Amino acid sequence: DLDLRPNSDYLKLPGSYLFSTIAKKVNAYQQANPDKKIIRLGIGDVTQPLCPAVIEALHKAVDEQAVAETFRGYAPDLGYDFLRHAMAENDFRSRGCDIADDEIFISDGAKSDSGNIQEIFSQDAKIAVCDPVYPVYVDSNVMAGRTGDYDESTGIWSNVIYMPCTAENGFAPELPKETPDLIYLCFPNNPTGSAITKDQLQVWVDYANKVGAVIIFDAAYEAYISEDNVPHSIYECEGARTCAIELRSFSKNAGFTGLRLGATIIPHDLTVDFEGKKVQMHSLWARRHGTKYNGAPYIVQRAGEACYSDAGKAQIKDMVARYMKNANYILNGLKDAGYDVSGGVISPYVWLRTPDNMTSWEFFDHLLEKANVVGTPGSGFGPSGEHYFRLTAFGSYENSVEALERIKKL
Ligand code: PLP
Repeated sequence: DLDLRPNSDYLKLPGSYLFSTIAKKVNAYQQANPDKKIIRLGIGDVTQPLCPAVIEALHKAVDEQAVAETFRGYAPDLGYDFLRHAMAENDFRSRGCDIADDEIFISDGAKSDSGNIQEIFSQDAKIAVCDPVYPVYVDSNVMAGRTGDYDESTGIWSNVIYMPCTAENGFAPELPKETPDLIYLCFPNNPTGSAITKDQLQVWVDYANKVGAVIIFDAAYEAYISEDNVPHSIYECEGARTCAIELRSFSKNAGFTGLRLGATIIPHDLTVDFEGKKVQMHSLWARRHGTKYNGAPYIVQRAGEACYSDAGKAQIKDMVARYMKNANYILNGLKDAGYDVSGGVISPYVWLRTPDNMTSWEFFDHLLEKANVVGTPGSGFGPSGEHYFRLTAFGSYENSVEALERIKKL
């Protein structure tokens, strides 16, 4: 049938996903050098096991599934009330953010939500992203046919507004010259490890309200914040209820990368004009969940609830502190070795400038071959990531120390 064709927007995506390319290179090196011990500080996966409070909740929920009286089948599309309530109380209302339980949509994580959220906006919505950026925001808009044409030589899409985040602006985006419809922000940031203050985020909220844009705020790394003036949620800013959607994840705070749990928050006040009416984006996302999503598993939502118990909170804090000990070690070790580094203070990511003006991929090969350490080339996150490199604190302390020993010897 000649009418059947692949979705050609998918065919516009350049190369393979960044982490597949890295995995291929690492595997090839390991095969050629089977005796070398490679330390992986590249991919953003966690390594510590789930905490006891979560394991206990999982066991209990599993046992409930074995008994007719407590068995649960399809979960409510938008999430179980117990989890929506626990999140609303602990992540929002206890911080003074006015968020109702029913404004929280439970999901299987921030990757799917950050990729899917664009669907509820029009095809001609223009997106603005930080550069460098978590690749999912851009790629999901490429798949949706929103980004125009790709220029191989610059790595730039013709219909995307890029907001460079480099050492020159302290890795904080500036308001774009051209007005966007959708603005993706993520703080603490992946990959640069930078953050912005509440006053700085307020500028974005005021701007979005003024121009009628919607901010998609990715708070996946909020558990790593230790400074008082850095907001954990965009709803700490005044006026965010009318312009901001927030994404939450249980991956990096509680180690749910394999278990899978997250949430999207859409306040009822967030409306977009259409044919003289104000359309609540909350309704559209609810409709999408109802049609395309069956909800996170019951046992996983119970595990998520356990993160908000006193024991769960303390255990998670301890996990985060362990990763931050690694981050601190990596950051200071690199500084001592003369590298130009940032991030790593309220973020598990350390961002460094490659030495001797090497490209990000040249430094990747150099580090893999000479130190057997794997990191992530900054250029994989966007054109302004070129000549930068990301190391993560998600390994063990021993591996972080050994990796730094090797890097110092280079
Ligand atoms: N958002 C950002 C900025 C991330 O870096 C990641 C994972 O690395 C995610 C979202 C995905 O989180 P999840 O595991 O909840 O899908």
